[in-house]
Formats: sequence, C-alpha cells, structure tokens
Amino acid sequence: MKHPAICIDLDKIRFNTEKMVRQCRGRGIHVAAVTKLFCGHPAIAAELVAGGVDLLADSRIQNLKRLEHLPLPKMLLRIPMISQAADIVANSDISLVSEPKTIQALSNEASRQGKRYQVILMIDLGDLREGIFHEHEIHAAVKAVLGMPSIHLMGIGTNLTCYGGVKPSRENLIRLVNLRKDLENAYNIILEVISGGNGSTLSLFPSGDIPAEINQLRLGSSLTMGIGLNDEPIDGLYHDAFILEAEITEIREKPSVPIGEIGLDAFGNTPVFVDKGMRMRAICAVGRQDVHPDHLRPIDSRIQILGASSDHLILDITDSASKLAVGNTVSFHLAYGGCLSAMTSEYVHKHFIRA
Ligand SMILES: *Cc1c(COP(=O)(O)O)cnc(C)c1O
Repeated sequence: MKHPAICIDLDKIRFNTEKMVRQCRGRGIHVAAVTKLFCGHPAIAAELVAGGVDLLADSRIQNLKRLEHLPLPKMLLRIPMISQAADIVANSDISLVSEPKTIQALSNEASRQGKRYQVILMIDLGDLREGIFHEHEIHAAVKAVLGMPSIHLMGIGTNLTCYGGVKPSRENLIRLVNLRKDLENAYNIILEVISGGNGSTLSLFPSGDIPAEINQLRLGSSLTMGIGLNDEPIDGLYHDAFILEAEITEIREKPSVPIGEIGLDAFGNTPVFVDKGMRMRAICAVGRQDVHPDHLRPIDSRIQILGASSDHLILDITDSASKLAVGNTVSFHLAYGGCLSAMTSEYVHKHFIRA
C-alpha cells in the first residue's frame, strides 16, 4: 500500500448514514448529505446514497460535478459566486442563497439554459456567517425572488455553530419557523423546505427540542465521522471511519532538547521543549502540507506527537505499545480539519476498506 494513506471504511460510513437517516425520517426530516469533507469522492458519496439520503450537497461546484452520475438532486451549500452562475445552474439543482443580485444571475442563466433553478434563502439567526440578518431585507429578497421567472423559492434555511459558535436551540429555530409562516402569509406562497442547519442540530434530537416544522438537515461530519455539536462523538455511531497511516523513515535515540541557540522553527514560531532526557524518536513521511499535527491523535496513546514540519512528522515512540522499526506504519485518528486536509492533499493515498 502507498503511504501516507487515509484509510476509509465504507461500511462504517454506510452504517452511520443508515442510522441517522432512520432517525431523521422518524421526525419528517430529509437528509442532505454533505460531501465536502471528502472532496465529493464518488465512492464515499455512493455509500451515502445507498444509506438512504435524499440530496447530495457540497460547498464547491467542482465536487458536485464529480457526483453527476448519482441519481439525487444536488445542492450547492456555499453562497454562489456570480462568476460561476453558468456552471452552478448546469451542475446543481438547488443553491443556498442570500444575495438578490446573485439570485438574479442564477435566474438569467437558468432562462438561458431552459431550466427552473431552485433556491433556499439563508437567514442569519446570530452565528454571523452567511444569511440575511435584517427582517426588512429578508422581505425585500423574497419579493425580488418572486419576480424572477426561472427561480423557484423552495424555502428558507439557516446555518449555526460555524463562525460564531452559536448553538442550535428551540428558540432560534422557532424564529425560522415563524418567519416561514409570516412570509407564506405575506406573499401567499408555500415554502416547502425549512433547512434547519448542519449536524449540530442533531443535538436537539434527544430532548425533542427540534421544532416539528424543520424538515431538512444538511449532514456531513455526523454521517462520515460520527461527530456532532462541538465535534463531540454521537452515541451509537462509528467515529473511526477515517484513519491516517504514515510510514516511519527514521528511528533514532536523541535528546529531548535541541543543542545550540534556539531561533524560529520552519513556521516562524519559537519552539519550547521539556527535558525528558534521551528518547527514541521516529520520523514519519507526512507533514503539514498534508495534515496539521494538532489534528492527529496516535491510535497507540503511548506514542506522542512532538511536532511537524512541511513533510516530516516527529514522534516520541519510547513508550510505544509495540516495538517499531523503519518501514513500519503508525496509525492516527483524525479530527475534522485533519480529515479535510488529508482528503484534499493529492499526496495522501485514498485507501478504501470494506468488510
Ligand atoms: C459544511 C456545511 C454543512 C455540514 O456541516 P457538518 O458539520 O459536516 O454537518 C451544512 N451546511 C452548510 C452550509 C455547510 O457549509
């Protein structure tokens, strides 16, 4: 096997997806499966489809293009770029939107391509990333969209916990529910979708605090990594569908404190060292270009990560559970950011596992 490798357990992803889809269905919620964590890799997306999700969603149109062959509606998550309007209309069915000027560009493109394009208007409930904040601007946007012949306003949505860290709650989601009612009454329309956020909204399931009107969730890391609000593990799901394997290229006994006057490291930081005497150190052939060392956790908890430069990961293996040799591999659990960058790095081999 080529290294470094990210090993992807398709059965675990399938299991997680089936379980979350069942829970969502029971509450009348459609699942938009978010594929951006794995750059829209078709083999992983196929498991989400087999697991019963209703839509495929990604922040980048390039990733949605990779999923063209999968028979589900495609939704663009990131607020669209006007410069990509033609590509977006050609390669997706729905966008999350907040700017009338952009929706107009999508409408013009849709007319040109002989299509009717669907949008979900994003409302900012306080997290302060995307979405319209002021109520009068929401009304102005709805009025504008209703005048665009090639656009269908499917509904409204929100995103939480991404920038401001604002948690989903009954209170903030009820604002969305009430807003839909107001808009439907004011303009005599039906807004069939209320998109109630990302995987963090699953945290309202156990208490039943999620309003019954929420009928779509956009789920990414919960399906693939089994994590939800605050990246905490969700009970009953697999949390280790992605494992990074790196190969050891050097093992040497060395002091724990460098010798000589200390300047800056490769990334401009002043390194700090604890003197533990002589230690066995291993270098693995993987680095910050692939994954940030803070996003890695050795599966053998007795191995310690000392640091990383662009292409070298340095480990203290003095206390490792098994005796390691040059040419062996070391395995790591990945945090969300680590999984994202390892999937994005073309230097990391993608290795699929199936029972
Ligand atoms: C990434 C993203 C999601 C999915 O987030 P997870 O935390 O992986 O569930 C949902 N909605 C939007 C708008 C996103 O950008």
